[in-house]
Amino acid sequence: MFAYAKSVKFVFLKVSILNIGDELLSGKTLNTNSFWIKRKLFSCGLFIESQITVQDETESIISGLNYCITKKPDYLITTGGLGPTSDDITRDVLFKYFNTKSSVDLKYLDFLKQKYGTKNLKINDSIKNQALIPNIGEVIPNSIGTARGLKFKKNSTVIFALPGVPNEMKKMFKKYILPQIYDANPNPFFSKTLRTCGISESKLYEFIISQKNCGHNQIGYYPSAYGVDIKITNYNNKDIESFIDIIYKKFGNYIYAENEENLEKIIIDICHKQNQTLAVAESCTGGLIGHRITNVAGSSTVLKGGIIAYSNESKMNILGLKKNTLDQYGSVSEETALSMSERVKKLFNCSIGLSATGIAGPGGGSLEKPLGLVYIGLATNTNTIVKKYKFNQDRKTNKVKTSQMALDLLRKGLLNE
Ligand code: AMP
Ligand code: MG
Repeated sequence: MFAYAKSVKFVFLKVSILNIGDELLSGKTLNTNSFWIKRKLFSCGLFIESQITVQDETESIISGLNYCITKKPDYLITTGGLGPTSDDITRDVLFKYFNTKSSVDLKYLDFLKQKYGTKNLKINDSIKNQALIPNIGEVIPNSIGTARGLKFKKNSTVIFALPGVPNEMKKMFKKYILPQIYDANPNPFFSKTLRTCGISESKLYEFIISQKNCGHNQIGYYPSAYGVDIKITNYNNKDIESFIDIIYKKFGNYIYAENEENLEKIIIDICHKQNQTLAVAESCTGGLIGHRITNVAGSSTVLKGGIIAYSNESKMNILGLKKNTLDQYGSVSEETALSMSERVKKLFNCSIGLSATGIAGPGGGSLEKPLGLVYIGLATNTNTIVKKYKFNQDRKTNKVKTSQMALDLLRKGLLNE
């Protein structure tokens, strides 16, 4: 959702994306390239005009090019079909489309012969095609693969063709495309994202829209299982910063990070600063909290270990919970979450124990203990707290939400919020 505090006309450079590949249409491959490119462009203040996916087929590619170019974007980025197999026809189609002859880059052909020769592959026409360079247009180097990219211009649109292999595409995009787009942007603008957790989009919206001194900021709201991200965009960085101060004053303790940073990284940084050590006891999250923490480089000096105590037996036999606690209050209860966090803290001899127990669904709920009911426990050297939550989502989302709220409870505990 977007909201403009005042009517201000932002001049965006427009970009279209054309993804080429049968596998993207058959459900075999998730179109991560498009997702990644859009994120990169959007964060530089570009507007995505359209995005389409077409088959590895001449007619489809041509109609895709026509569709995108008719919309007159400043840039058109294609991915896929530049590789060495017979279904990789993008290069040929582009040469036809731009009506250009091509010649063989002999030096590159030698390189290809050497490269594929050492893999004992026959140098067929598809491989040789990768050495073709257009008479009109440019070649974009690929430092980690053989499929080089291409650059063309048609009317007011610059076309960049990149390979489909994600890590090659990303590297080429960052090195050659982004700097060109960035330099060409007549009105570069700034943006900052505040990442919130535990507060609804509507509450944030109500407050933000009521602010008269919001300046000419453009505000975007991005809700997900991790919380709501608020992106503030403006040509004037000072306007962003002063508006951010207002949001911090009102919602400071809900804001866990800025821009691309995630909660687990924030936590590890704070733990390092405070010399804290951590252990986790997970039931309904099945190790997700530990997984997220261990995704952070340097987490090994903070996280001492974790236990997935999914059954009552493991809660008793490994964590050491009392049978009484489980019999009397149940495995999803305040008392169980409290004991889990305290026991795991002791077991791993840490300064903090974090626990989560809940009903992820879709089965297992009751009137008294409905689906999505979750208790999160946080034991420190001074006290133990337990918070109760009710998530109304599917199983996987409930797990993500639980892990996020657990990490946020830990963050607040560390910061005494
Ligand atoms: P290609 O350049 O079309 O030969 O694609 C090479 C590899 O990249 C294949 O394994 C594709 O599945 C993968 N790939 C192509 N396009 C995309 C895309 N849009 N997102 C993610 N992977 C892709
Ligand atoms: Mg392909």
